Amino acid sequence: MATSPQNPGPSARAASRPDVPAQASSHGSATPQARARFELLLKQVGESRPNEDLSIIVRAYELSERYHAGQMRASGEPYLIHPIEVALVLTEMKMDPQAIAAGLLHDSVEDTSITIEEIEKQFGEQVAHIVEGVTKISKIDFASGEERQAENVRKMLLAMVDDIRVVIIKLADRLHNMRTLEFLPRDRQEKIAHETMEIYAPIAHRLGMGKLRGELEDLAFRYMDPLAYQQVKEAVEARSKAGDAFLQHVLTIIREKLQENAIEAKVESRVKRLYSIQQKLIRQRITVDQVYDLLAIRIITKSVRDCYAVLGAIHQLWPPVPGRIKDFIAMPRPNLYQSLHTTVIAENGTPFEVQIRTEEMHKMAEEGIAAHWKYKDGPVAARDEERLAWLRQVMEWQQEMTDPGEFLSTLKIDLYPEEVYTFTPKGKIVILPRDATAVDFAYSIHTEVGHACVGARVNGRMAPLRQRLRSGDIVEIITQSGHTPSRDWLSFVRSSRSRQKIKHWLNEHERERAIEIGRKLIEKEARRYRVSLKNIEEAAFQKVASEYGFGRMEELFAGLGYGKFSARQVLGKLAPETTEQPRADSEGSEEAKPGAISSVVRRVFGSGGEGAIKVRGYGDLMVYRARCCNPIRGEEIVGYVTRGKGVAVHSRSCPNVTNLMYEADRKIAVEWGRDAARGYPVKLTVFCDDRKGMLKQITAIISDDNTNIRNIEARTANSQATIDVVLDIEDLKHMERIISGLRRIAGVRDVQRVKKI
Ligand code: MN
Repeated sequence: MATSPQNPGPSARAASRPDVPAQASSHGSATPQARARFELLLKQVGESRPNEDLSIIVRAYELSERYHAGQMRASGEPYLIHPIEVALVLTEMKMDPQAIAAGLLHDSVEDTSITIEEIEKQFGEQVAHIVEGVTKISKIDFASGEERQAENVRKMLLAMVDDIRVVIIKLADRLHNMRTLEFLPRDRQEKIAHETMEIYAPIAHRLGMGKLRGELEDLAFRYMDPLAYQQVKEAVEARSKAGDAFLQHVLTIIREKLQENAIEAKVESRVKRLYSIQQKLIRQRITVDQVYDLLAIRIITKSVRDCYAVLGAIHQLWPPVPGRIKDFIAMPRPNLYQSLHTTVIAENGTPFEVQIRTEEMHKMAEEGIAAHWKYKDGPVAARDEERLAWLRQVMEWQQEMTDPGEFLSTLKIDLYPEEVYTFTPKGKIVILPRDATAVDFAYSIHTEVGHACVGARVNGRMAPLRQRLRSGDIVEIITQSGHTPSRDWLSFVRSSRSRQKIKHWLNEHERERAIEIGRKLIEKEARRYRVSLKNIEEAAFQKVASEYGFGRMEELFAGLGYGKFSARQVLGKLAPETTEQPRADSEGSEEAKPGAISSVVRRVFGSGGEGAIKVRGYGDLMVYRARCCNPIRGEEIVGYVTRGKGVAVHSRSCPNVTNLMYEADRKIAVEWGRDAARGYPVKLTVFCDDRKGMLKQITAIISDDNTNIRNIEARTANSQATIDVVLDIEDLKHMERIISGLRRIAGVRDVQRVKKI
């Protein structure tokens, strides 16, 4: 030992942690209780790892004993008990000696005078690295504001990706703290319980550690809602006592049946976890008496084949409840849980659940990523990789996510996987979050498929992109090359992957357009004030950009394009000497100027008509028809540079125009391009008598004009009818022709255009 142990002082931050060591007056070494627990630990490790050198564990214990000497826990026990219990949890998980040593040392850097460097010197780089990771996570306060919380979860995920043992130790640490939570004051209990429920239990779940997750949840439940906890607990106890005889009866029948079929298997009964019962009660609005999988049978077999054989045997004994047979062996859950589930009805009418799985699956379900620890270099290590892949994916997404609130909500969706199982037409399984849509499906196939998707066939039928998918749906995505994502999709996609991909695409493309618009705006402004931009040096642009807090010129243009500030302001800074009045002919001069930007015409995107609008004097700008007035070719229109969405084109008569145009320098001249448009959806309302043949006459007028009807809806009341019809209209003349045709029908009182569709 290089340094002599110093008297450790309680750190300032320690008071915010559940396992805070407090200074005791006596300086004793380990108590008999601590020694006994450590000896048990050594015995267990020795049994599971008979040929390994365990001296690292002994050395870690000795160091921990010395440095934590005199510290007490809130329970009044010596502090040393805590790292030993944490290490025992790790031992039960069959973790490797390094991880167990790190478990014994996990609080030493945080709460005693020892340094990471010292630990590295004595125990090697890996142990030091793990202890450092655990120490870092321990400093995180997950209950802080949303922004901080997101940042903290991010840090924790980083640590996990780095070495999964860090988070396994952190989970073991949290488990022991939760087991001893009763010694803390009420407000601390609540805070720690919430954090456990929101962060730690879901992470344990994602890592497939079912047993640890179950205990964490039950403990957290107990402190979050003591009353409900007590109620559920008592109800379950009462029922399992009553059900005991029944269960024994069922167990006997199953054992006999298995023997008869010469299947070797372990048969046991289990009572559902209290917290998951509580969840069920809330979700299904039922009482404990109505929870039929409260009592369940678990059968653990030697092989996958036996699992299915057992399932068959069980169904021979009792009839299964339709729709309750789940094959998680063929279709593992995303956390790699595998098992067969079925619910059957006993002779007396009592339904009960049977879970059937192999020993290996059982271990996986209970211990998850920790189950494979001792085979680290074996063939199953690939599965750990899959689990880590999830973490890496989350990390990747969050790097693109700038809004911490959004990151957190995304993470919550990913941590609480309630997924739907859908299929490609070829039968490949696609697992999506609950309420996912065809767009989510498309993005899970491939980013490009997502971008280009225009429709979907669900179970052979055409379905809208926003339709929510259900388990078992067979989904075929229809794509169209050149199709691009719509901002609208963000309102209904569910998976973080699709959300990210769509946002990324929109940001990239909108930024490009914003830069373009911004550049044009400043050019236009310069011409109005007879300022030659050519004579302004790039350095001047740079200077103005940095005045607005931007590093690059492009960002200044993008800011202009997004409408964050006006071109006049920027020009004023670029050429402060400009006091001249703008030229009167400014609008018209642009196109006359030699070498002016050619008018590129851009097709309007969106599901509406494919009209063409050009922005006079400007290049390829993002242009769209405003939804409030849906202008059609032939109408007088005006453009308006929006904040971040390009140029909105309004009808000049649109009431919004007057409201928008108070910022005059965001107005842009636009005109209809010469492209033959296929038509825009236009909604007309026909007010008429409710008489026989009316609908037929109306549709005749429309189809005689070669016009496509998108939708028609009629309402009648008091022998009067109101008919809404959505048509594909080419231009203003086309619409006026149809309207006057409809007005000539006897019994039609009025025809009006509904501008907003
Ligand atoms: Mn601890």
